Amino acid sequence: VPGRIYEVNASPMPGGGAVAVLHDVTRIEEVERTQKDFVANVSHELRTPLTSITGYVETLLDHEAGISPQGREFLGTILKNATRMNRLTEDLLVMARVEAATVELSPAPVPADLLVREAVAGMKGLVQENEGVLEIGTITDCQVFADHDAVMQVLSNLIENAIKYGQPKAGGGTRVVISAREVAAPYDAVEFSVRDFGQGIASEHLNRIFERFYRVDKTRSRESGGTGLGLSIVRHMVQAQGGTIRAESELGEGSCFLFTLPKALYPVH
Ligand code: ADP
Repeated sequence: VPGRIYEVNASPMPGGGAVAVLHDVTRIEEVERTQKDFVANVSHELRTPLTSITGYVETLLDHEAGISPQGREFLGTILKNATRMNRLTEDLLVMARVEAATVELSPAPVPADLLVREAVAGMKGLVQENEGVLEIGTITDCQVFADHDAVMQVLSNLIENAIKYGQPKAGGGTRVVISAREVAAPYDAVEFSVRDFGQGIASEHLNRIFERFYRVDKTRSRESGGTGLGLSIVRHMVQAQGGTIRAESELGEGSCFLFTLPKALYPVH
């Protein structure tokens, strides 16, 4: 029927021919779209009042006189929570845009080592703060066909997680190694990996960490400013560029996040 959306399942019949089953998913698609629009609109509407709250609290804290130490402490708590809400609304907006495929991606050939070096350079501050060590592992001389900014966001997010959550139990920082190699299956691609040597992720959590709002340790994630949306955005950004992402981990040994991007067929020199 014109204007309706169908999901098609086709299977071959023995002796020739095929059976096709059509499911009308128009209603499901409509509900999903309404939900996504709602999230995007709410996040957008929350931004203005939040900016106002943050601004006024910061101004009050800048004033030396007239505020008791307890008042100052309360203002500090308000600021911390408003900042957290700001981060959450920002992440929700990015998420809604990525899901609605309205993020403009401009793929172009770009050398893998250039992407890794740039991402590593951008994380220097966080690494020093957390006593971590960032290392560039083996990087094959190859180019991907991808959107530079989107890949930068993916790599930065994975490195940030490795630094934040990959800390060994004994304390101190973790070592993080970023590598890239060419793979032939399931298609000509470049596989990037971000490996840490921290506490690792238990198998019951491993296949759920890419879900929205999923956090292994809620308190820890909240303390470090996490919203539980990071990996979900990362997965969308990788998939939107024709790639795949997975995580491997062993408790006490560390974790490794691996994602692929299509190899550039016509590399630039
Ligand atoms: P968050 O905003 O909480 O950082 P993410 O979606 O980025 O959310 O990650 C989801 C959860 O996966 C985190 O809260 C953390 O518990 C776990 N996680 C992510 N990366 C790692 C890692 N490298 N080592 C251990 N745990 C991790």
